[in-house]
Amino acid sequence: MKERLSSASYKAWKSCVTNGTPLGLDTANEIAEAMKQWAVEKGATHYTHWFQPMTGVTAEKHESFISPVGDGKILMEFSGNELVRGEPDASSFPSGGLRATFEARGYTAWDPTAFAFIKENSLCIPTIFCSYSGHALDKKTPLLRSMDEVSRQAVRILRLFGDDKTRRVITQVGAEQEYFLIDRDLYNKRKDLRMTGRTLFGAKPPRGQELDDHYYGAIRPRVAAYMRDLDESLWAVGVLSKTKHNEVAPSQHEMAPIYTDANTACDQNQLVMEIMKKVAERHNLVCLLHEKPFAGVNGSGKHDNWSLSTDTGENLFKPGSTPGKNARFLLFLAAFLKGVDDYQDFLRATVAFPGNDHRLGAQEAPPAVLSVFLGDELGGVVDAIIHEKDFSHVGNRELQIGVDVLPTIPQDTTDRNRTSPMAFTGNKFEFRMLGSSQSVSGPNIALNTIMAEELRQFADELEQNINDFQNALNALIKRVFTEHQRIIFNGNGYDDAWIQEAERRGLSNFASAADALPMYTAGKNIDLFVRHGIYTREEINARAEIHIENYTAVLSIEANTMIDMIRHEILPAVSGFAEKLCVRAGYKQKAGFSHEYESETAREISGLTDALFQACKILEQDLENLPDDPTRAMVYCHENLLPHMKEARTYADRLELLTDKQDWPFPVYSELLFSV
Ligand code: ADP
Ligand code: MG
Repeated sequence: MKERLSSASYKAWKSCVTNGTPLGLDTANEIAEAMKQWAVEKGATHYTHWFQPMTGVTAEKHESFISPVGDGKILMEFSGNELVRGEPDASSFPSGGLRATFEARGYTAWDPTAFAFIKENSLCIPTIFCSYSGHALDKKTPLLRSMDEVSRQAVRILRLFGDDKTRRVITQVGAEQEYFLIDRDLYNKRKDLRMTGRTLFGAKPPRGQELDDHYYGAIRPRVAAYMRDLDESLWAVGVLSKTKHNEVAPSQHEMAPIYTDANTACDQNQLVMEIMKKVAERHNLVCLLHEKPFAGVNGSGKHDNWSLSTDTGENLFKPGSTPGKNARFLLFLAAFLKGVDDYQDFLRATVAFPGNDHRLGAQEAPPAVLSVFLGDELGGVVDAIIHEKDFSHVGNRELQIGVDVLPTIPQDTTDRNRTSPMAFTGNKFEFRMLGSSQSVSGPNIALNTIMAEELRQFADELEQNINDFQNALNALIKRVFTEHQRIIFNGNGYDDAWIQEAERRGLSNFASAADALPMYTAGKNIDLFVRHGIYTREEINARAEIHIENYTAVLSIEANTMIDMIRHEILPAVSGFAEKLCVRAGYKQKAGFSHEYESETAREISGLTDALFQACKILEQDLENLPDDPTRAMVYCHENLLPHMKEARTYADRLELLTDKQDWPFPVYSELLFSV
């Protein structure tokens, strides 16, 4: 932009991004023209406002730059108006009742803080998406609001520490993305993978992840070729992918980009997911982003690395090298701990999706209980402050906030504990409960807003005691650490004993999405978001409704797919195979041979076939009996449909093991998991 804009326009844009000053139409026109030229030089013919509706994926509607100028001639045109505002028909995007159907108009508005990029010959312009009446219908608007709000409150705190330079505090996010790669030909033969993204059937293969040989293992050539192509495709749109490796399960991998501001990071993670799938197609592979594509091996998550930094480049979660910076660090740490403790339920709700239910608490991902891992060193500091005791690492001195220098907290080595849902990793927090397919926007909106609220409370209190700042600060930090120490847990989160301990501590445990989703609209949570202007009451209610309805929709699709596969693939196949066995047993009997295998297997198959048939009919009944009320439907799915699906699966999986490979209607786990 610096190269292609006049310096006045460049400055106007910069000031719009950093200070939020409005952009004039002249400037917008100049930026639009420059963007178009740049895009056309790179082969673009279209532009699209690229936005993030509440479906969790991105949406785009492409317009060509073409505009007729008479005599059958055309010009490639793009105006400031077109850049700044779009007006897609919004009627088919989920709105949770925020938009009456007669008012189908939705508006998209350019987000000048996000980078445009070119994808498949279209100039993609990141935008926000709202209804005619101004309600946010997307995942970007509230994220931007929350970034502003946490910045505002954090700057208040920084001023108290005498920092008069920082104008803005920026949320930084790095999202690690896990995924599976499987062969496309095999994938195409599995209706469950195609319809639901996960296998609904599949007996345990002779080999899973027992050998622990996949994690960080040598990358096989076909996967390596995919990863190289993926890196190049990501770099081309400005996503700085940095780390790649094999994950725990066979066929499972991970990519991590270099962190950036939360807004860009959320855009980029959406792009990452989209590009991962597209690149896979070029390699005759399929990239599975579902949280649990295969039972019995680990599923996929997403780690949301989150921190706050000043526009002068200081990380506020980095323990400092001076007493003042240490005190500041401890205050931000206190705010974070209090925030996670106060809003455990809401944080849990932001990762509540049916797919994620298969992982959380299943010994492969953090438990469904929120807690914060600080590590021994920092945990020791917090402990020393609570009990006003000596802290051995800083010698035999009493630890006084703002006077002592904290021991250096070594980055990264603090945390090789992978079982914590929220781990301090030296200079950032790693929120590890996210599902691999979800947008990272929701969890970051929550983290920002919660942090804003706690910082607001702290600033209110400290501003009142400005004349005795040091003592007020010490007292505040000590009090908050003491009141919220229950949220700190440094042990093994996969241990059942922790769940009991967490209960004793009074931490909340929402085992499933169906339990967690209603927390979206708990009174204190609505108050929080409304107070900070992140969501209106209507907006948050709408979001809860969308997630609740989505739960039922996902489970219904899964159950319908199961029924379809049972009736049209499994039952005919096993019945045919049983017939073959019976015919063979008859021949053998006539010939006077023994026919134990044929008879016994046919008998077991017959029994299981009937059981599967009954289970299928129960699923059909469940679907007919779905309550109309969305919350009741969700609970019904969780309590009835889900266990009935599990039951049907056990019969089918046993049948798979009994049936001739030639007769089984679709590829099995050993083929799918070791196909690439
Ligand atoms: P690990 O797997 O050990 O957690 P990775 O290197 O795979 O580490 O991922 C760490 C992620 O955290 C990367 O995306 C990285 O850019 C990001 N990150 C590093 N520092 C920060 C920070 N200060 N704020 C936010 N994210 C960060
Ligand atoms: Mg990693």
